[in-house]
Amino acid sequence: MALTTAGTAACAKCKFFDSEQSAELGLCRYNPPISQPSGDTAGVWPKVEASDWCGHFEPAAA
Ligand code: SF4
Repeated sequence: MALTTAGTAACAKCKFFDSEQSAELGLCRYNPPISQPSGDTAGVWPKVEASDWCGHFEPAAA
């Protein structure tokens, strides 16, 4: 059974997608950055492709 969001949800159209890296690769800002084992290293934002999506998808404002 196909998911109802298939074909409509995409990171590129999500309000949490930060496309500062490129049009095809960006950062997901839904959650705070992921802390690293070394407390001296900055946290990491998940990298996602424009065509990815997840269950937290929310359309970006037009
Ligand atoms: S991973 Fe989910 S919340 Fe993050 S940009 Fe993509 S659709 Fe949006």
